[in-house]
Amino acid sequence: MPSPHAFFKGEFVPLENAKISVMTHGFLYGTACFEGIRAYWSEEKRQLLAFRMREHYDRLRNSCKILQISLPYSSEELCNITVEMLRRSGFQQDVYIRPIAYKSSEAIGVTLLGLKDDLVIFAVPFGLYLDISKGLKLKVSSWRHLEDNAIPMRAKINGSYVNAALAKSEAIQCGCDEAIFLTQDGHVSEGSGENIFIVKSGKLITPPVTDDILEGITRASVIEIAKKEFGIETVERRIDRTELYTADECFLCGTAAQVSPVAEIDNRTIGDGKIGPITKKIQDLFFEVVKGKIDRYAGWCTPVY
Ligand code: PMP
Repeated sequence: MPSPHAFFKGEFVPLENAKISVMTHGFLYGTACFEGIRAYWSEEKRQLLAFRMREHYDRLRNSCKILQISLPYSSEELCNITVEMLRRSGFQQDVYIRPIAYKSSEAIGVTLLGLKDDLVIFAVPFGLYLDISKGLKLKVSSWRHLEDNAIPMRAKINGSYVNAALAKSEAIQCGCDEAIFLTQDGHVSEGSGENIFIVKSGKLITPPVTDDILEGITRASVIEIAKKEFGIETVERRIDRTELYTADECFLCGTAAQVSPVAEIDNRTIGDGKIGPITKKIQDLFFEVVKGKIDRYAGWCTPVY
């Protein structure tokens, strides 16, 4: 049986003991940034493999820089702490790791300055976030995405996810599975918690990092895998809304979403409404990579035990 532990205020503690006050600044104002990292259990190897953990911690440190949170650990130290937390927890199943660096002072007042900072890391058992076996139904959201001069999406800021929750809930209430955000000037940005790719004439197209997206680690992995394994190029450029409707294929990707094919956007069928052939190739390879089945990607998978 697993015994979930957290790394909390510099120590490993049972998860139920990792508690914060209702007056914590990060809770009062959303002044915190976080990561989501998957670790996959390989029954074959009897091993838990954390996917691209270092890249997640490099991004967390950048988020902290933007939010003026001091995080006194290198990415390597954060990886080691996470491995130790997972070992103490004893998981033998797929898990989702949630590190959060936050303004921890118990204080009223909107600022980033003169406050204490803390870090918590915990993990929970985790299965599918979106159904990846069939195509998803998407809705272009009536909520516009946050932009770099409001709350930057480049930083994975807890408070930003209010924007995501509004869009995702609207999509669900409209009978869809997920929302697509447009930028303030009306170009395709990303999903509520995923990056988006379309396929046109055998090429992948995805919005550039300057269109208010989180610079996704799965996005970067997909671009690399597609090129190296299949010789498929990715073009990073602005995408118009109607290009979504006329795409040959479309998929979302992210740590939680993995590689999730899209069948319908705003009641328009994408391709023939089934999982597209390029999407399927990338999805299949992605799962082999994250489960540690392909040796040349072993560097992306950190063993816990
Ligand atoms: N965009 C947003 C808004 C997200 O929350 C996520 C999930 N972290 C992604 C994209 C995908 O990023 P990653 O592949 O690094 O998980």
